[in-house]
Amino acid sequence: MISRKMEGLVKHSSVIRAMFEEGKKLAAEYGQENVYDFSLGNPSVEPPKEAREAMLSVLTEENPVMVHGYMNNSGYEDVRAAVAQSLNKRFDTAFSKKNILMTVGAAGGLNVILKTLLNPGDEVIVFAPYFGEYNNYVSNFDGKIVVISPNTVDFQPKLREFAEKISEKTKAVIVNTPNNPTGVIYSERTIMAMSEIMYKAMDAFDTSIYLISDEPYRELAYDGVEVPYLTKYYENTIVGYSYSKSLSLPGERIGYLVMPDELDDFEDIVAGANVANRILGFVNAPSLLQRAIAKCVDATVDVEIYNRNRELLYHELTEIGYEMVKPEGAFYLFVKALEEDDKAFCQRAKKYNLLLVPGSSFACPGYVRLAYCVDYDMIVRSLPAFKKLAAEYKN
Ligand code: PLP
Repeated sequence: MISRKMEGLVKHSSVIRAMFEEGKKLAAEYGQENVYDFSLGNPSVEPPKEAREAMLSVLTEENPVMVHGYMNNSGYEDVRAAVAQSLNKRFDTAFSKKNILMTVGAAGGLNVILKTLLNPGDEVIVFAPYFGEYNNYVSNFDGKIVVISPNTVDFQPKLREFAEKISEKTKAVIVNTPNNPTGVIYSERTIMAMSEIMYKAMDAFDTSIYLISDEPYRELAYDGVEVPYLTKYYENTIVGYSYSKSLSLPGERIGYLVMPDELDDFEDIVAGANVANRILGFVNAPSLLQRAIAKCVDATVDVEIYNRNRELLYHELTEIGYEMVKPEGAFYLFVKALEEDDKAFCQRAKKYNLLLVPGSSFACPGYVRLAYCVDYDMIVRSLPAFKKLAAEYKN
């Protein structure tokens, strides 16, 4: 007898698993090279050599008892100092090791901060389309998700609706830029307007509202577009970072939280996050990876490989007649489905061995997500299938 809450979670997650299984089945039937799987956000670019060299050097040159041992729940002090220093250099901030907590990826960091902040019934605002796991993370701590509906013109957040829905129950607001699933980067103007809305609400309700910036895609930005560093626009910002995409290490589970001195109740939040990191079962972020990060803190994957995929897919799909906003970051395209029912559209796409994710998984029906962290050649091979799919809707 599993819990009712878990029963619901299992039922939902089996939908995603079913898609994964479907991909394997199609590959067995038609051959791997004839299946065009755009469903998974698993990096296709190999980790930079600096990351590999850093891991090897930790293993060969550092004291193994220290490398593989327990440390503070928040992480090794020198690693946290190295992360703070790198941020200060890049973003002109003034963090030190006390502001950094090493986490088990972005997912670990988000769970840590939500556990630290939420009382049952506290509201967490998210902007559709959004990463569906936020629902689970917030529900882990009995918070309540409040969704701002999507602005399908340019996928920047709907600010008027945000101002209407922010309330005395709002404890946190999650933003994710560059965004999964749209690839859109929230502009500085958007961020400033959001910040003003949150400051006004805190004044009006006499509460603290925390902005959680979930940024595993920060380094994947194209055409020189700047991704604003949010602690500079709103004092109650907590940044959740991950190396899953920037170093192509999603299986290694490493990231960090930034908790600036300016946070309301800074000391308590840091103390809470330390305990949360331990009692959620992580105890600490993986030690070897922490040590390696300190040695390759400014390295990133070759973003140009994703950029090439982005340009090809965007241009070819647009040419065929598909509609989408050109993404400026991450490795996703969010394309308008050719019929209202995005799930039915994905079913049809499957007839041509195209695996896409329905927008309704991101609270934005009528659209589909394509992950272009795939081989360039697979994109080339998939184009006739996209053409045939579109042709079905022209008759
Ligand atoms: N947040 C977003 C928006 C994501 O897309 C993902 C993973 O795809 C995560 C968080 C989780 O990242 P991690 O692997 O670092 O836990």
